[in-house]
Amino acid sequence: MPLLPGELRLRDGQPTTLGVLGGGQLGRMFAQAAQAMGFRVAVLDPDAASPAAQVADLHIRAGYDDAQGLAALALACDAVTTEFENVPAQALQVLAARVRVAPGAQAVAVCQHRAREKAQFVQGGVPCAPHLLIACEADLGDAAPHLFPAILKTATLGYDGKGQCGVPDAAALPDAWRALGGVPCLLEQRLRLACEFSVIVARDDHGHCVHLPVQQNLHRDGVLAVTRVPAPDVPPAAAEEAIAHTRRLAQALGYVGVLCVEWFALDDGRVLANEMAPRPHNSGHASLDACDVSQFELQVRTLAGLPLPQPRLHSPAVMLNLLGDLWFASGGAASEPARTPRTPDWAGLLALPGAHLHLYGKAEPRPGRKMGHLTVTAAEPEAALALARQAAARLGLPAA
Ligand code: ADP
Ligand code: MG
Repeated sequence: MPLLPGELRLRDGQPTTLGVLGGGQLGRMFAQAAQAMGFRVAVLDPDAASPAAQVADLHIRAGYDDAQGLAALALACDAVTTEFENVPAQALQVLAARVRVAPGAQAVAVCQHRAREKAQFVQGGVPCAPHLLIACEADLGDAAPHLFPAILKTATLGYDGKGQCGVPDAAALPDAWRALGGVPCLLEQRLRLACEFSVIVARDDHGHCVHLPVQQNLHRDGVLAVTRVPAPDVPPAAAEEAIAHTRRLAQALGYVGVLCVEWFALDDGRVLANEMAPRPHNSGHASLDACDVSQFELQVRTLAGLPLPQPRLHSPAVMLNLLGDLWFASGGAASEPARTPRTPDWAGLLALPGAHLHLYGKAEPRPGRKMGHLTVTAAEPEAALALARQAAARLGLPAA
């Protein structure tokens, strides 16, 4: 039976409530999508002022491993999801004993660990970069020459390019591994990328699966900077192949919820899977303004067991991430960055047709911190790109 918004529970007369572990911007946009449909939303997060806590109907201020907090969340909710990839799988298991949880602990555990993730790719026949798990010092000697030049990534807790470093050759590997703390790492061949893109799917309890249009992603310093939909440089055959693999991965994981797989496109037409996120993804934010069903509404629908229509892109779009650096942008290219933060010229941005501003309610801008995003929609991809370039220029960002 689907969970319907506005329904009152027999148990306590409360309206249907959806819960989310994690209070970041992804949780905030999930909450807003759920509330727009008439659901109540509960957020569990230790931070009183987190983006999702600000908009939640109920904020349970607790850590992800706090037994009391998890019990309170289970009691308050009809179903719980996660917006935070590194939530302890144990927390999801504890919750699952009391309340519907999607995605499940096992699928999240695979996405949390780069070696498990790669093993899932290999097992499912999904192509990925040649790699080696460096679990301990003894494994350093096993790195075959064909893996170099390589990238070394911590097996867990890496994000936005953090927890990784380049390794030119085998001789440089021991120092690189120690520099990352001597923790279990994955060594990956550095690929020559033609472009990067992502595929977001949503899968329900019955195995019905839909996908968002393929998104092309540009990273700067390891952080997503620009997403374009439709993806201008991804050949249709490559996109189809990546979509088919992503759907199969979701099926193999018995996945219920929104799953994102990041893909590398190579010059020779091959596509290789990079990593998975067991939740909506930064590269899917344009779906809020460019698709008739956003990735957050898909998350709500899968969690509540509601129908999943195939999303339709109604407007070509370009999404620009708004990092805290913008608040410190200097007046001219040559001058020093400002020391005290200044609010960027939002009014100037919003004067552009098709500009949609999303700010996450974070009080303190810091360099590299994701403060919001801007999606520019237009009738044609070229027009969206031209407008995004104007927006980038007004913000002092590099050209989209
Ligand atoms: P994160 O969890 O920080 O997003 P990723 O594994 O996605 O970590 O790496 C971040 C970025 O680094 C990728 O989006 C890509 O630009 C680059 N990168 C990662 N792995 C490789 C690789 N094997 N070859 C070339 N570039 C890579
Ligand atoms: Mg990534």
